[in-house]
Amino acid sequence: MSAPILPDLADLRAAVRQWKADGQVIGVVPTMGALHDGHLSLVRRARESCDRVIVTIFVNPRQFNSAEDFARYPRTEDSDAALLAPLGVDAVFVPDAAQVYPPSHATVVSVSGISEPLEGAHRPGHFDGVATVVTLLFNMTQADRAYFGEKDWQQLQVVTRLVQDLKLPVEIIPCPSIRADDGLALSSRNQRLTPQGRAQAAALPAALFEAARQIESGTPEQQALASALATIADAGFGEVEYLELRDAATLGPVLPDRPARLLVAAWLDGVRLIDNVGVTLP
Ligand code: AMP
Repeated sequence: MSAPILPDLADLRAAVRQWKADGQVIGVVPTMGALHDGHLSLVRRARESCDRVIVTIFVNPRQFNSAEDFARYPRTEDSDAALLAPLGVDAVFVPDAAQVYPPSHATVVSVSGISEPLEGAHRPGHFDGVATVVTLLFNMTQADRAYFGEKDWQQLQVVTRLVQDLKLPVEIIPCPSIRADDGLALSSRNQRLTPQGRAQAAALPAALFEAARQIESGTPEQQALASALATIADAGFGEVEYLELRDAATLGPVLPDRPARLLVAAWLDGVRLIDNVGVTLP
């Protein structure tokens, strides 16, 4: 049975009120649509452990750095609905921008520190847009649990910090990255790669995993990263915005005995790809 599509906040609130009155646990999966198996894995996780599952689809204009990128972001509403239909979702909330940000909207949620390096440095204002919309979506859905992909590792840490700092009554559930057979992390942006670019793109996760393996087995970090950069360049990538080993939770410098994360953002075919992998320091 297809999930009811709710464009209006009033309708969502009415459904949520009833579910809460019945003591049901509500899970939310926030997305920007153009759904793929990565998103669906989050929905399945939510379905397994919540009484009610809300998927939100909202291409959030405030988290884009350029009007062109926003305009070019894929919008595939019919196929999104078809993909969600068999999964037993209770509501698909698809608000329009005027509902989320009416002209009077004046509030920005900003998470300092953790939002600043890496993605934050290369996409100014991006995480303010994310933190603001996520706060709005939590308030609109009143969800008890929210499912986020590790694919967007820094975003996951920013949202975790936000929820702790603002004492929001929602539990963040991290979900592993889903990859294509050749290792490329699924992303709505992959659709924009040319067939040749799509074939070259697998070099990014391959280089990332190899660098992680080398660091774990004692190769000096700078040496492992330099060889990963060379592999990525040889594969035909353009600019690598960052390839950095960071503390997994704070995204500050790595610390002994703490989980680390290797994160990358690189351009191929005019498409910006990001990825990350866990590293256990030797
Ligand atoms: P987006 O629609 O790109 O905003 O992503 C919505 C959610 O799906 C975010 O929590 C992403 O981290 C998650 N997500 C996107 N791609 C993947 C993937 N390949 N594996 C797991 N989660 C993903």
